[in-house]
Amino acid sequence: MRIGIDLGGSKIEAVALDTGGAELARRRVPTPQGDYEGTVRAVAALVAAIEAGIGRRGRVGIGTPGAISPATGLIKNANSTCLNGRPLHRDLEAALGRPVRLANDANCFALSEAADGAAAGADVVFGVILGTGVGGGVVVGGQVLTGPNAIAGEWGHNPLPWPDAEERPGPACYCGKQGCIETFLSGPGLAADHARSGAGRKSAEVIVAAASNEAAAEATLRRYERRLAKALAHVINLLDPEVIVLGGGLSRIERLYADVPAIWGEYVFSDAVATRLVPPLHGDSSGVRGAAWLWPEEAGG
Ligand SMILES: [Zn+2]
Repeated sequence: MRIGIDLGGSKIEAVALDTGGAELARRRVPTPQGDYEGTVRAVAALVAAIEAGIGRRGRVGIGTPGAISPATGLIKNANSTCLNGRPLHRDLEAALGRPVRLANDANCFALSEAADGAAAGADVVFGVILGTGVGGGVVVGGQVLTGPNAIAGEWGHNPLPWPDAEERPGPACYCGKQGCIETFLSGPGLAADHARSGAGRKSAEVIVAAASNEAAAEATLRRYERRLAKALAHVINLLDPEVIVLGGGLSRIERLYADVPAIWGEYVFSDAVATRLVPPLHGDSSGVRGAAWLWPEEAGG
């Protein structure tokens, strides 16, 4: 049995999966805000409750914001800032009394969709989160690619490629650079682009809903589609994935799956592009399911 934990900013969710990926149990609790020790205790209590309910012990994988710094073993880059600089991996293993695997939440999303989701059966998969921020994860042969810096797939802080004149130097990013992909492709980035066009301040959801009926919203969404096509063409040139899966709130924009591949051929260095762009199969459950898939199934697992 595998147990996956999605450690989010507002809730901690746990799921137990059997060998075939069927859900045996699911529980969630609010995240103890700003309380690191309380967060570790809450994860341990969730696992204990799931195992008591099922009557079996499982292998535990955890998806977190940020990443474990290979240099220090401590969490870095997490937007739940009480985790940063803490030995979360070591403390969770101590609290649970067993080895646990820990990965970035975008990596868990990519792994879930590659394991038994929209990219099942594909050898090379790029998973993208288009939400409050922009993250990415790479899965090759069923394994998350991590790398010596634990940043594989972190494409949101690359510059937008092939920028038009009005896309240079681009909006300021919290990382200290300008014109990062995230500043154009996140939900707040889409809303800010709409406001800069002089069309007024609206949320990304309102802009998407108004597109095709309202010229300004339609123009904003067309700019978004071209930028996403350019950003993904860069990934295709580097990684040549069979499947790119979109996740996060903006992955619900259905037209992206037809419109973006119609554009990216202009930028991909190939006569034809066989890469497929698909919506997620598991939706909001991908984070917690991907955390469970961090462990291989073994005899007795
Ligand atoms: Zn940035």
